[in-house]
Amino acid sequence: MTQTTFPGFLDAHVHLALIDPAVLPAGGVARVLDLGGWQPGAPAEAAELEIAYANQFLAAPGGYPGRQAWAPSGSVREVTTVTDAAAAVGEQLASGASVIKVTLNSDAGPVFATDVLRAIVAGAHENGVPVVAHAEGVGQAVRAFSAGVDMLAHTPFSERLVDELVDAMAGRMTWISTLDIHGWGEPTDDFTRASDNLRRFHAFGGRVLYGTDLGNGPLPVGLNRREIDALLGAGMAPDEVIGALTAALPGGALARTAGGAGRHPLKRVTVVPGERPTDREGFADWLCEARAVTADDLEDTD
Ligand SMILES: [Zn+2]
Repeated sequence: MTQTTFPGFLDAHVHLALIDPAVLPAGGVARVLDLGGWQPGAPAEAAELEIAYANQFLAAPGGYPGRQAWAPSGSVREVTTVTDAAAAVGEQLASGASVIKVTLNSDAGPVFATDVLRAIVAGAHENGVPVVAHAEGVGQAVRAFSAGVDMLAHTPFSERLVDELVDAMAGRMTWISTLDIHGWGEPTDDFTRASDNLRRFHAFGGRVLYGTDLGNGPLPVGLNRREIDALLGAGMAPDEVIGALTAALPGGALARTAGGAGRHPLKRVTVVPGERPTDREGFADWLCEARAVTADDLEDTD
């Protein structure tokens, strides 16, 4: 049977604590980046996923998502001072985190002062680890960029960013897409703004990772057809969408995947059955038939 084998597809924004990870491989997802609230343990490890994670959200005192009902208890580490920043970063790294997640949500509470944010970034970078920000509220995306944050957990959606800023961001940032959270198929104003920002970020050469914010709202556990369609709709070619799904985990995370001492080799690859169609609609249909399989499964089907 004709099939195409890819490196395991990556969802670069998930919350494993809020979903059943065992379902992900059947939906094509082999690798995940957990962006807050998860620590190594069953059941995610039983699913034989490759997992990189942030562990706790670093937030200003009283800041997002500390007051959100969905945030598991203990999942937020408040950072008050510059001197506390290095300790907060160190705690995450000691737990095996390979990215540092900060929240800058001025619509939902206080956000970091710039000096504290810069100290967190410095602490992460001294350890060779990237910083991922949840930027929400007018002006927070540019604050993240100016402070040296490496990645945005969501395509900016609170405002239209001017071309000059998007161009500069494309020079050294990675954006995780998460377009479909804005309406889940019934696009909102946030979806329209985010798609417009992403279209220009991509056109300026910015690095985009496929990510869904899985665990947040009614999202399919597995490859999300609507997210794929939104990426294509924002001007990404089919091969570029595949690139966004097959990129390396950030921060050299392979060496730090869950299980610590285990240092798992590649666990799963993603297989898409059938001939790859040449048209866009057919491509998305085809891609979403993906399954993530182990090396043993692969031998059985060959
Ligand atoms: Zn999230």
